Amino acid sequence: MSRPSLPPNVVIFGRPGSGKSSLAERLATEFGYLAVRTGEFLREAVQRQDFVGRRVAQALARGELVDDELIVNLLRGNLPDHPTDRLLFDGFPRTLVQAPLLGDIESEKGFKIGLFLEIAVSREVAIARMSGRRVCPACGATYHLLNQPPRTPGHCDVDGSPLEVRRDDSTEVIRQRQDVYDRQTMPVVLYYGVHDPDRFHAVNGEQSMDAVLADAREAIRNATAPSG
Ligand code: AMP
Repeated sequence: MSRPSLPPNVVIFGRPGSGKSSLAERLATEFGYLAVRTGEFLREAVQRQDFVGRRVAQALARGELVDDELIVNLLRGNLPDHPTDRLLFDGFPRTLVQAPLLGDIESEKGFKIGLFLEIAVSREVAIARMSGRRVCPACGATYHLLNQPPRTPGHCDVDGSPLEVRRDDSTEVIRQRQDVYDRQTMPVVLYYGVHDPDRFHAVNGEQSMDAVLADAREAIRNATAPSG
């Protein structure tokens, strides 16, 4: 059989701090995916302060999930009918209610997911990564105490402002987001791993970014790209 030339439509899973979104961005650029990021749709709605934005602002700040119905409607509204681009879902599905609804959306919109990709990172590593993040309140530059420290400890390289911990990176919110992932999203990941092993692949997300990217790239190349 000849190798399919199109990459498969992908769903990417990973706990907060797994590097999932940076990886999704790199894969989208490399393979030409249309990235579908529910978190980004929500943050844009909060910025606009529209009806959805006002409803979800608090949940986002607390690290809780927003309700399933709202997310599914938001997704339906943002996805083209019969997408011509290959899709990469970053942030959906996140609950056992959303998982079967993805199947409905696939039928309605005429596409099929070919790969469920987990970026596997332990809770402890994820918390350590997130706890080290710092941001400059003046210019928005971001740092990491371990991976990308500022030249002068505690101060921005660009303008010297004292660095801060982002509000959604407070210890309490970090733990809350990990709890939400363990309780609500991990069962979804396990579900696909058990019930759909042919379309499921986990990569070790505790390696360097380049190694994770190489493994993810290989998983995409090995996955069958179904037509549609
Ligand atoms: P993310 O950028 O994917 O980490 O998403 C940021 C936040 O948006 C999450 O912490 C949730 O509060 C919310 N969110 C994003 N996607 C979903 C989803 N599929 N279901 C429920 N809440 C979501």
